[in-house]
Amino acid sequence: MTTGKLQIHSENILPIIKKWLYSDKDIFLRELVSNACDAMQKVKVLRDAGECSAQDDEFRIEIVANAEEGTVTITDTGIGMDRDEVERYIAQLAFSGAEEFVEKYQSQKEGEQIIGHFGLGFYSAYMVAETVEIDTLSYREGAQPALWSCDGSSEYTLGEGGRQTRGTKITLHIAKEEEEYLDEERLRSILNHYCAFLPYPIYLNGIHLNEKKPLWLKPAAECTDQEYLDFYRQLYPTGEDPLFWVHLSVDYPFNLKGILYFPKVSRNFNFDKNTIKLFCNRVFVSDNCKDLIPDYLMILQGAIDSPDIPLNVSRSYLQMDRTVRQLSGHISKKVSDRLVSFYQDHRDRFIESWPDLEVIVKLGAIQDEKFYERVKGCLIWKNLDGEWTTLDDYLERNKEKHDNRVFYSPDERHRPHFLDLYRQKGIEVLFTHPAIDLHLIAFLERQRSGLSFCRIDGRIDDLLLDKDREKSILDAEGKTEATRLADLLRTALEIEGLQVVAKSLASDALPGFVMMDEQARRMRDMLVMSDIEQGEKGLEGVMSGRKTFVANTNSPLMHSLQRLYGRNPALAKNLARQVYDLALLSQRELRPEAMDTFIERNQAVLQQLAAAAALSS
Ligand code: ADP
Ligand code: MG
Repeated sequence: MTTGKLQIHSENILPIIKKWLYSDKDIFLRELVSNACDAMQKVKVLRDAGECSAQDDEFRIEIVANAEEGTVTITDTGIGMDRDEVERYIAQLAFSGAEEFVEKYQSQKEGEQIIGHFGLGFYSAYMVAETVEIDTLSYREGAQPALWSCDGSSEYTLGEGGRQTRGTKITLHIAKEEEEYLDEERLRSILNHYCAFLPYPIYLNGIHLNEKKPLWLKPAAECTDQEYLDFYRQLYPTGEDPLFWVHLSVDYPFNLKGILYFPKVSRNFNFDKNTIKLFCNRVFVSDNCKDLIPDYLMILQGAIDSPDIPLNVSRSYLQMDRTVRQLSGHISKKVSDRLVSFYQDHRDRFIESWPDLEVIVKLGAIQDEKFYERVKGCLIWKNLDGEWTTLDDYLERNKEKHDNRVFYSPDERHRPHFLDLYRQKGIEVLFTHPAIDLHLIAFLERQRSGLSFCRIDGRIDDLLLDKDREKSILDAEGKTEATRLADLLRTALEIEGLQVVAKSLASDALPGFVMMDEQARRMRDMLVMSDIEQGEKGLEGVMSGRKTFVANTNSPLMHSLQRLYGRNPALAKNLARQVYDLALLSQRELRPEAMDTFIERNQAVLQQLAAAAALSS
């Protein structure tokens, strides 16, 4: 029997480990079970190399909880260790991450699950155990069993063990305050969480737990839709059925298997809870794939299994690692390929799913140029006639009429008169997503030189005018009728910084609209979205001098207004203001604080009109 000191600069690493991770002590079991798997995997490798003999049915992990003795044991039939190896692999705490861990611990008061990130696998046992024993027999011929024991201080003993057969038995003497870990149910639920897809049979108090082989290991060609759906249900028992999925399988330059699902994003979809599950050789590692997959794909669900992402890695390592970056690129490629084939093969279903896909695809296009290049053929918008189109098709169709110009509106329902104007002139308008397209449009304009997007209230395009009915005859004062209407409205409205023009618009039903400078309006919308404290003034400031009221010289309402002005200027003024506010309202541009004035004025005007009508009838 020898005694020794754990080789680590900090004397106190074990108390630190013990004290620290209240948030996720459960992972001790994952660590020990995955060590057991590793040890058996090594036996398989040796067997294949002819260096030892072993039968497949020998491989198993037994976990036994013994409440009376206060112990949990984890026994494997793996490679085992001799005394030297215990010394080297366990006692010397040869994990490079240990010091980093201690530093982190000292500089950080609270933290997430960190132990697994620092290569402290085996020692995580001390989160729940007072004393840990390792009883182990190496696979080598003539090896002597070794018994290591350590009570969590920095001293340990290492002597002769009692094991007769190859493998390792770890005994945890569970600490008083961690007695819950003696409970079979508790252990079962941890094992189901972390070890459901383990490659070796695992028994808890004699009962076989993991019978499921993960679907990601099965070749995609052999998997049925039902199997994919069942597997999804296994991972997310409460979710709605997913839209579609991507089966990943890569051997080179890294190893990766997995199935990713596009979820239906319902209102109560919980983004934090339904993340992709990360496995390492079928052992569950984490729900957090933040650094592994691009941001825009964080909404996906499913499982990724890669032995190339070690159980124990620090976040900073993940961020730098080349494999991880390639992996992320590969996932993005697979997902985009799948999107494109979904679009090409099942266009109707794709369109049906578009509300769920739109944000992912568009965000991806903006954030990742490669992704954009791949998915641009399935970036679609709905047009005025309710048909879906890609940008290329739109441009091609309209190149005679308005080359490289795209008309759009973020609102399908609320501007019927306005949209009629475009409909009557046969100009194709696309409906955009109010938030994400603001960015996407800017991105697309940068991507393709000459391309410009124009919101329907962004300019008075020649295409919208009815040239034949233009009122261009000059009167005695040298003014056209259009100028007269504009002057009248300018005087009636009296709004500082507002320009007023009158045009012969193609739709008579539209009294007018408020034209907003495209660039200024976009800037304002960006500011609104970015949530930067601008103050109300600041936001409107961006638009000041950039708004024009465009009155329609063909509108019967405008004609009546003109006539009324001579007889009852006060009422005409109020009506003009109502028309202006209504235009803003229908363009979703009436500011909330202007609403009160609008309603009061409305009541006053109605009262006046009702009284007049009562008199004349
Ligand atoms: P890691 O698994 O990342 O190497 P651990 O702290 O979990 O770190 O384990 C340290 C080392 O101890 C392992 O690499 C392995 O050599 C040895 N070891 C741990 N558990 C076992 C086991 N059950 N059987 C054989 N060797 C083991
Ligand atoms: Mg380990």
